[in-house]
Amino acid sequence: MAEVKYVFVTGGVTSSLGKGIVSSSLAKLLQARGYSVTIQKLDPYINVDPGTLNPYEHGECYVTNDGAETDLDLGHYERFLNVPTSQANNVTTGRIYQSVINKERKGDYLGKTVQIIPHITDEIKRRIKLVGSGGKYDIVITEIGGTVGDIESLPYIESVRQLRWEHGPQNCIVIHLTLVPYLSASGELKTKPTQHSVKMLLEEGIQPDILVLRTEKSLNEELKKKVALFCNVEAGAVVESIDVSTIYDVPIKMQEEMLDSTVLRKLGLPPGHDPMLDEWKKFLHRLKNPLHRVKIALVGKYVELADAYKSISESFVHAGSANNTAVDLDYIHSEEIDESNYRDKLKGYDGILIAPGFGSRGIDGKILTAHYARTNDIPFLGICLGMQCAVIEFARNVLKLEGAHSTEINPKTKFPVIDLMEEQKSITDKGGTMRLGSYKCELMHGSESYKCYRKEEISERHRHRYEFNNKYLNDFRNAGMIPCGINPQSGLVEIVEIPSHKWFVGVQFHPEYSSTVLKPHPLFVGFVKACIRK
Ligand code: GLN
Repeated sequence: MAEVKYVFVTGGVTSSLGKGIVSSSLAKLLQARGYSVTIQKLDPYINVDPGTLNPYEHGECYVTNDGAETDLDLGHYERFLNVPTSQANNVTTGRIYQSVINKERKGDYLGKTVQIIPHITDEIKRRIKLVGSGGKYDIVITEIGGTVGDIESLPYIESVRQLRWEHGPQNCIVIHLTLVPYLSASGELKTKPTQHSVKMLLEEGIQPDILVLRTEKSLNEELKKKVALFCNVEAGAVVESIDVSTIYDVPIKMQEEMLDSTVLRKLGLPPGHDPMLDEWKKFLHRLKNPLHRVKIALVGKYVELADAYKSISESFVHAGSANNTAVDLDYIHSEEIDESNYRDKLKGYDGILIAPGFGSRGIDGKILTAHYARTNDIPFLGICLGMQCAVIEFARNVLKLEGAHSTEINPKTKFPVIDLMEEQKSITDKGGTMRLGSYKCELMHGSESYKCYRKEEISERHRHRYEFNNKYLNDFRNAGMIPCGINPQSGLVEIVEIPSHKWFVGVQFHPEYSSTVLKPHPLFVGFVKACIRK
């Protein structure tokens, strides 16, 4: 069996340069040339996983099939590659230290002083190699979070240096992503930050093989040559990454810049067949040439940071393209919606989505939103907390259960239509203790969901503690809110619908985590279609 090859992606100058997108694009191109590729993200923070991070801090928490709460970049990996990721694809400093300290407590280090080098770096290397073991992949791309020069990322960079030394530069290459700022006053593109950033990498023992330069203006050959000379890389290995209108253009741009063939050459691998990107290009064509346009309101409480709803907004890009439709997504803060203004705020939308969330802030605005969508026959999709709000609204206004609520918000409610799951009641820890990952769901024939999925059994990802309270099942069914998706093992309600409504679907799971470019999520496709029909 051929040895697995490793590609490391580091970043310099500033954060938010799009390392995740460049890594995903490279992976896509290598995959399209016939290689089997996966991507891993190493995050330098001390949290064991991002599950306990506020979405304002770090954007959305992405959940994998196996129930790992991970960095949102894993969402990009899946959306680009159409291959599921797992716990092993995201490692944080907290997790690394946790395993080293656990080993130390067990006495595994036999009386040795436990240190960053070699114990922490060994654990980092073990995690990197773990992804490549098992013979599934030809190439593992590992993205190092943070910016070169940060104290936090030092052990990661040192581990990369060691791996390169151990496996040889033909099996381990480093791509460094930097920014070339444009100074409008002098009309110049500046390469000095790149030179400094590469110098910093060199101080830490790494000579990058390839440089990817983020820029708003096209770089000329002369500039690329200058960077190559000063940074000691091959002239052909300086790649431009220019701003584009959609992230899904990046693989096409990276191919034009021959990033994929340069990587393969450096790894000593044959180029394979030309990248097969027909489906991808068709997707882009539909995306850029829409025949329809819909306006959808996304009501949530983390709306200030678009990254907090990344998977949802990307799902709309996929579903929009599938429907030849441009989806204009307006983010509306649920805290700003009240009795006096909800009609005005929600007027004129072709569809309404209530986002997932935790805690009581903004909950009343969400319940009013569900009320508006239901009573005005506006296509509606409620995700997780969004579905729970629709259930609460229906209980209060149709079943006339005054004060009905979720016990998450009001533990003393007389009508706990959403309640804590039995197995959650004894748990006090916050991290990693929710109902997480994929669970099965059986769909009811004839329901909107069934029409979307066109199959009886589906499997979708979860991240929640509270559930539809089955004590009220018959009341809801008799009044017209139908449980259309049920977990076959536990009997838990996964989907509710109102058949008398144009399109009203609430889901306890998170469809947004599994929408990809090549497989837009059926519920989002169905929802956008319903919005056009209006
Ligand atoms: N807070 C709710 C629960 O824990 C919903 C969670 C969510 O929307 N992901 O059940």
